[in-house]
Amino acid sequence: MKAETYPFVVRPLPYEYDALVPVLDAETLTFHHDKHYKTYVDNLNAALADYPELQKKSLTELLTEIDMLPAAIQTAVRNNGGGVYNHELYFDSMKSPVGQEPSGALAEAIDRDFGSYRQWKEQMKQAAVGKFGSGWAWLAADKNGVLSIVQTANQDVTNLEAYTPILLVDVWEHAYYLQYQNRRADYVDGWFHLINWRKAGKRYEDILGENRQ
Ligand code: MN
Repeated sequence: MKAETYPFVVRPLPYEYDALVPVLDAETLTFHHDKHYKTYVDNLNAALADYPELQKKSLTELLTEIDMLPAAIQTAVRNNGGGVYNHELYFDSMKSPVGQEPSGALAEAIDRDFGSYRQWKEQMKQAAVGKFGSGWAWLAADKNGVLSIVQTANQDVTNLEAYTPILLVDVWEHAYYLQYQNRRADYVDGWFHLINWRKAGKRYEDILGENRQ
């Protein structure tokens, strides 16, 4: 996903704070990006501050080698490194709600692996709404391009060695509570209209391209 290393920086949103209205209002998005996501970045940097050898590693390397990190920072890297990874992909996977749908190779793979876009949407919604407590629902592809829906808890990432994330939805209450209160299903229904299918399709085609090399 990136070769960025310590100190990790807060990536600006790739759109204005009010770009996702009416699905996500500017207040919700501002708190989510400027406060919640920034805190994960700050805490990840703090965890790595005393470990110069780890400061050369990319975020993906850190997250796939958690068991080999010093015990004192494993939990901090898992929670905050995951928080950085997940939020960067989440914000980068959305755009203004204009009713775009998947196309190209990704659309074909969704039909193949879920039956139809509509069936994928139902299963993805179930994964997001049915996730108990805080976490994420993902659409991910294995090395052969086979798609699956994955749930993770807290700020855990999906298995980044086995899967390439295509897109994901944040179902922590902080992602929607200011605007939707407890109505997670309404937030998830709206989120489907925000998916940046062009970027998702590009991520998917990159996997297929790697297989051809
Ligand atoms: Mn969040």
